[in-house]
Amino acid sequence: MIHAIGIQKKFNHLEVVKGISLTVAQGEVVAIIGPSGSGKSTFLRCLNRLETIDRGFIEIAGDVLAASDEPDGKVRYAAEADARRICRRMGMVFQQFNLFPHLTVLENLIEAPLTVKGVRREDIVPQAEELLGKVGLADKRDVYPSRLSGGQKQRVAIARALAMNPDIMLFDEPTSALDPELTGEVLKAMRRLAQEHMTMIVVTHEMAFAREVANRVIFMDNGEIVEQGPPAALFGAPAQPRTQTFLQRML
Ligand code: ATP
Ligand code: MG
Repeated sequence: MIHAIGIQKKFNHLEVVKGISLTVAQGEVVAIIGPSGSGKSTFLRCLNRLETIDRGFIEIAGDVLAASDEPDGKVRYAAEADARRICRRMGMVFQQFNLFPHLTVLENLIEAPLTVKGVRREDIVPQAEELLGKVGLADKRDVYPSRLSGGQKQRVAIARALAMNPDIMLFDEPTSALDPELTGEVLKAMRRLAQEHMTMIVVTHEMAFAREVANRVIFMDNGEIVEQGPPAALFGAPAQPRTQTFLQRML
């Protein structure tokens, strides 16, 4: 579903992603963990073109988004309309919810399908209502975001991403901005998505969630994948000293 090879990303002279390769199969849930500044967000943002890459290859659901030509390594992106279509297959949920404050919950969900995809209102409204039900917010349909708790806002953000009918969901620390008592309801919505076999990449500090829900956990440090494996192996018996040190601090 996602095929990334040798992804490199620099900010000025700072090399933030140093040749990461990652393949994610359909229905797989991959958790990315690692210290602050290790390049997790940047790598995730490279996958859906929120950042452009300096070198590497990205294929999403069979379509090439970006590829660097040898020998000079110059990166070519798919034509703009194609690139947009490819990236639309990925929904993204950020730490900050970024809901439209002037739109109700339902309007937040249907805005992009209506304007970007040209879906008909009578088709998208029932689908949006169903998604709200799934994240436990059917009763908040006509409420404005300012009236919601952080956990509720984040669940709306998840439902809004899902309303675009993506093949893949990318999460960047979706619970980090929440009070501890509100993280559970967001993780529950994500767990449910995983059970429905959504392909997911989740950057997270929630080790319990990674252990329980992910099929594979990736430990990143300093712009590289240091170690990866099934959660039981990575958490139970990490092979690399850097992974061990990180986990000792986290657990
Ligand atoms: P955290 O766990 O704190 O979210 P992270 O692993 O997601 O960290 P990134 O946000 O990817 O890390 O940042 C990696 C490095 O790239 C950091 O040194 C950061 O300062 C730098 N960086 C990120 N975005 C930019 C940018 N737009 N311009 C310049 N430097 C950036
Ligand atoms: Mg980050």
